[in-house]
Amino acid sequence: MTFNCLTIFPEMFTSFTGTSLCAKAIEKGLITIHLYDIRDYTKDKHKRVDDYPFGGGAGMLMTPQPLFDCFDAVQKNTKGKKVRTIYLSPGGTVLTQGKANHLQEQYEVLNLLCGHYEGVDQRVLDTYIDEELSIGDYVLTGGELPAMVLMDCVMRYVPEVLSNEDSTKSESFGDGLLEYPQYTRPQEYNGLTVPEVLVSGHHKNIENWQREQSIVKTARVRPDLLDNAQLTEDEKMLICDVKSEK
Ligand code: SAM
Repeated sequence: MTFNCLTIFPEMFTSFTGTSLCAKAIEKGLITIHLYDIRDYTKDKHKRVDDYPFGGGAGMLMTPQPLFDCFDAVQKNTKGKKVRTIYLSPGGTVLTQGKANHLQEQYEVLNLLCGHYEGVDQRVLDTYIDEELSIGDYVLTGGELPAMVLMDCVMRYVPEVLSNEDSTKSESFGDGLLEYPQYTRPQEYNGLTVPEVLVSGHHKNIENWQREQSIVKTARVRPDLLDNAQLTEDEKMLICDVKSEK
């Protein structure tokens, strides 16, 4: 999987690409991240990439010329590949685990446009962008953090990036539920103990407990997710119990 990030702050990606899972994935050749500095493509003698919006309004907009030239350079390097071009934007549909999985399965290259100022001239979006994705209902200063969030989430689905590939399935959202509580050693710490069932060695009981805890947590914290979860009649009763707690 190749990620092409179009940005005016390539230096923001340094710690992301040099650390943890991402650094290992790059080192093993499982993913590639190219950073395109939009400012390298501006024909403005002062290296400007923004201008005032027509019709007034607060702030500046990213201007078309550097972005058209930058996208043309990106496209030259991705000919013949399955490419999706995404603008990270608070006005996009919200990124989900399912979306990240889909992007990894369907595309070889993701082009990620990181906006700044008040956003991007609409003609750039109309010409190059396949879809807009948001990382949540709040506004950030720029698209770099959202691009890193998206890459982090997508790369976890690239085969061999995670040492235990099952973990994307058992993690939160994998089956439409949040993850159950987890414990590690020691079994007792400061008088706080691990639930008995987890040290019982009884695998079926452990599985049942984890499933129940996932459902209870989802019902308490993110009941909206339950609409898409596959539940038995007993599990639906459990949710009614949680709702009646209030
Ligand atoms: N004026 C824009 C609006 O009201 O929708 C906000 C622009 S924001 C200050 C600057 C850039 O940050 C955007 O162009 C986008 O690339 C990025 N950005 C901000 N919040 C985001 C979010 N929640 N998800 C994805 N990108 C975001």
